[in-house]
Amino acid sequence: MNSMTTENLEQPASDEVSAKRLEKIAHENNKLHKRLCRLVGQAIGDFNMIEDGDKVMVCLSGGKDSYALLDILMTLRERAPIHFDIVAVNLDQKQPNFPPEVLPAYLDKLGVPYHIENQDTYSIVKRLIPEGKTTCSLCSRLRRGILYRVADELGCNKIALGHHRDDILETFFLNMFFGGKLKGMPAKLVSDDGKHMVIRPLAYVKEADTERYAEVKGFPIIPCDLCGSQENLQRKQIKAMLREWEKKHPGRVENVFSSLSTVVPSHLQDRDLFGFVGLKTDGVPNPLGDIAFDEEPCSTPTSNTISLTQL
Ligand code: SF4
Repeated sequence: MNSMTTENLEQPASDEVSAKRLEKIAHENNKLHKRLCRLVGQAIGDFNMIEDGDKVMVCLSGGKDSYALLDILMTLRERAPIHFDIVAVNLDQKQPNFPPEVLPAYLDKLGVPYHIENQDTYSIVKRLIPEGKTTCSLCSRLRRGILYRVADELGCNKIALGHHRDDILETFFLNMFFGGKLKGMPAKLVSDDGKHMVIRPLAYVKEADTERYAEVKGFPIIPCDLCGSQENLQRKQIKAMLREWEKKHPGRVENVFSSLSTVVPSHLQDRDLFGFVGLKTDGVPNPLGDIAFDEEPCSTPTSNTISLTQL
């Protein structure tokens, strides 16, 4: 009798807790969706990625990022004051155990026009690259050529890829650490055949957000290691470095990312980018010029620092 009474008393309380938890989760998910829409919309606007009348080919690999890209672009298309078309394209490279039914089933349900391109690049790569060597560079070259052709055939003038902020940062550090170049992954660029505009609408989105969004939406993820290629070790190191910075130095990764949009060529050393060789004095003070002997004002003065007014 006693236990019955306790159960009856506890039931409403635990229902209330669950309801509150569900409400909180729904609120967080809604915030995530809004954030993704805002950041994608902002990147599209900042780089003028999509214009009225565009036909955008959204490359769908079956990974979390490309699913998120397609989903958010479809939401934005509903709200946009301009008209643009979307075609989802998957390249089935005939990798072992690739489940060919997953994407068509998802896309049919979504009601978006799509095309599945079947090309056995896997066999070509296996035939041409000796066992144990990295296959990614040939594989991506083949993939790129095929996707450009498909974009032509489908009449798409824009090709949207699902690279996000973390991909951009990793590429930036890879190029700097291992290639000796200040070079990232552009949010918008002309394809190497000169015919298409390649866009990366997730450029401002963190990977953690696409990860979470994929969970929330229950995207039918297709694993990305079907080809059997090992993940690039250098990229793995960079990823780990960035994760460590995120944890130990909040704000640092954001600052590095924002520095990619705030470049001062006159304060780097690329002689092609800035005319150092022909640089002349003109006698005109420049408030934005180098304050040659001053420290950069990185931090606010502490009690140990002497301000100019104290001197
Ligand atoms: S991981 Fe596999 S599918 Fe991806 S680029 Fe490399 S070889 Fe190609």
